[in-house]
Amino acid sequence: MVKRILVTGGAGFLGSHLCDRLVAMGHDVICLDNLFTSQKSNIEHLLGRKNFEFIRHDVTEPIMLEVDEIYNLACPAAPGHYQYNPIKTMKTSVLGAMNMLGLAKRVGAKIFHASTSEVYGDPEVHPQPESYRGNVNPIGPRACYDEGKRAAETLCFDYHRQNGVRIRVVRIFNTYGPRMHPYDGRVVSNFIRQALAGEPITIYGEGTQTRSFCFVDDLLDGFLALMDAPDAVTGPVNLGNPGEFTIRELAEMTVELSGSASQIVKSRPLPADDPLQRKPDITLARATLGWEPKIPLREGLARTIAYFKSIDMRQFRAPTPNF
Ligand code: NAD
Ligand code: UDP
Repeated sequence: MVKRILVTGGAGFLGSHLCDRLVAMGHDVICLDNLFTSQKSNIEHLLGRKNFEFIRHDVTEPIMLEVDEIYNLACPAAPGHYQYNPIKTMKTSVLGAMNMLGLAKRVGAKIFHASTSEVYGDPEVHPQPESYRGNVNPIGPRACYDEGKRAAETLCFDYHRQNGVRIRVVRIFNTYGPRMHPYDGRVVSNFIRQALAGEPITIYGEGTQTRSFCFVDDLLDGFLALMDAPDAVTGPVNLGNPGEFTIRELAEMTVELSGSASQIVKSRPLPADDPLQRKPDITLARATLGWEPKIPLREGLARTIAYFKSIDMRQFRAPTPNF
């Protein structure tokens, strides 16, 4: 059945891939974005399609639309971007979620909300299951994002309990792939951009901190499976790749796969509140969605490097000076 589907943050890295999938499935897709951390080039190829439209709008302002499903992805996601204007980040998370949940309530739409592994903060439990309540510093530089996302989860569950809104909450762990913004300052895009330019690869801290990297195609399979799951499956559900790597290992693999002569350097101390370890426990996603990632880091990284080689960096504008 053809559905009318709203994707907020639809011009971003994950959102544009989601729009691709939904358009290909024949749905009537509305992409809403204020283009803060993305560029229209991510969705340029969709603009002429009959079942796709773009609305430049800020989710902190209400909007009246008639839709069957909402994917709420709008929010700056890279640390440098969300820390650039932390008050706006909190507004985007909280007011954005409120506006989208209000819309879902009014029109009876099902709503998917993109939360994050950052709700676990600097975790003391490893790997992180959904039942872990986290270790977030509420007044630190990452709090605008972490606490904003935690409050948005609270809103999802209160709209669900109080108003019967059908919700799907996903906690996304570090995801990478084509269409990451080359100047978003995240570790994968930074390292690939630096490796291709022959510049030093900048490790923060000792490079012993770990992350688990999921390729975007795998993540999108999980998004669609969760949205299609029975209404009892509200989440929160972790989606991510349990393969865990140190940042130094990622740097070495990036240099190797891109055939670069770049040096790996310790460029600055570990940023405040930067989590020391992160790895998803995906038992719940396996059991309820039959989902698990298939693409190993080495393969996904090679595909992402190929993408970065194919783009003209001069066509990209850094969204904030923090990259
Ligand atoms: P992204 O920055 O590429 O996409 C976010 C999109 O939201 C951008 O297009 C941006 O312009 C838009 N946006 C920001 N503020 C907005 C506002 N006020 N109104 C309307 N649009 C706004 O980042 P992404 O990686 O695609 O992240 C998408 C979502 O997934 C975010 O909610 C993020 O928190 C979540 N997430 C991503 C990851 C990851 O590793 N990629 C991990 C955890 C959570
Ligand atoms: N990082 C790094 N060099 C960079 C960018 C990031 O060493 O050029 C580190 C960062 O300190 C963190 C990890 O890589 O420990 C992942 O950072 P990212 O910004 O991608 O996302 P996070 O998982 O911290 O939100």
